Amino acid sequence: MEAPEMVRILGVASETPSHKTFILEKKIRAVPGQFCMLWIPGVDEKPFSFSGVKGNVKVTVKKIGGFTEELFKLRKGDLVGFRGPYGKGFAPVKGRVCLVGGGCGIAPLLPLKDYVKGDVIIAAKNKSELMFSGEFKKKGFSVHLVTDDGSAGMNGFAHEKLAELLKTEKFTMVYTCGPEIMMKKVLDLCLKKKIPCQLSLERYMKCGIGVCGSCMLSEYRVCKEGPVFTGKQLSGTEFGVKTRNACGSGKRI
Ligand SMILES: Cc1cc2nc3c(=O)[nH]c(=O)nc-3n(C[C@H](O)[C@H](O)[C@H](O)COP(=O)(O)OP(=O)(O)OC[C@H]3O[C@@H](n4cnc5c(N)ncnc54)[C@H](O)[C@@H]3O)c2cc1C
Repeated sequence: MEAPEMVRILGVASETPSHKTFILEKKIRAVPGQFCMLWIPGVDEKPFSFSGVKGNVKVTVKKIGGFTEELFKLRKGDLVGFRGPYGKGFAPVKGRVCLVGGGCGIAPLLPLKDYVKGDVIIAAKNKSELMFSGEFKKKGFSVHLVTDDGSAGMNGFAHEKLAELLKTEKFTMVYTCGPEIMMKKVLDLCLKKKIPCQLSLERYMKCGIGVCGSCMLSEYRVCKEGPVFTGKQLSGTEFGVKTRNACGSGKRI
């Protein structure tokens, strides 16, 4: 396994009260949906998807626990350990597609704006947590906002908006990332309507390169065969049913 390279933070942008984008002094050429491991010495090393895949590394992070709290304390000029790009990303297709992002899940979908066209559903708990609608609009996407509390866009959940769009649209592909419970509903809808779907999954990861087995989902190593899977690959697996904690013990979703 390669050692993390210590790279400088070039900038930090606040996206919402709980999300920040970190731009690193490290050039990459990655595929949308691929991820990296970020390391803070003495704290931990954790996986994050790219929210930009060309040029300087960009990751958009939600403050959720110990590691991300420490990351949020870092400023322009500070150093962070970087390994990557890793994993299998999204495969772009022609035709009109629909992107469905829940919460921080919109971040790995953002780079797809340069590869596909169509509609995007951006869902969050409330108006202040919605991100990237301007970036998608600039690229000609039809943007549909959805909030749990109705403070912006439709009051409800992302899959309900997708169901509404599917009454009149026939998308060539649905791409989704977000809470697993949301992605399961999106997948069920796509299977019912016979629309192909690609999903970016999160499982507890340690090595990020397919060696340790921490992120197993049925027969798949999510870090290596994923994190992006097709709906077909996921049917009949633990997806939407069971996940694993840091020790590898299974728990129901
Ligand atoms: C492929 C992949 C891509 C990801 N991309 C993003 C992203 O773009 N932006 C973002 O904010 N978050 C992303 N995550 C989740 C991110 O890794 C966790 O939010 C982070 O590890 C939380 O660490 P913490 O110490 O702050 O919180 P903790 O309190 O340690 O954990 C909070 C929750 O985060 C998840 N988590 C914790 N450690 C890990 C780990 N080693 N691997 C996977 N999940 C973990 C678990 O669900 C846990 O319940 C991604 C995860 C994976 C697997």
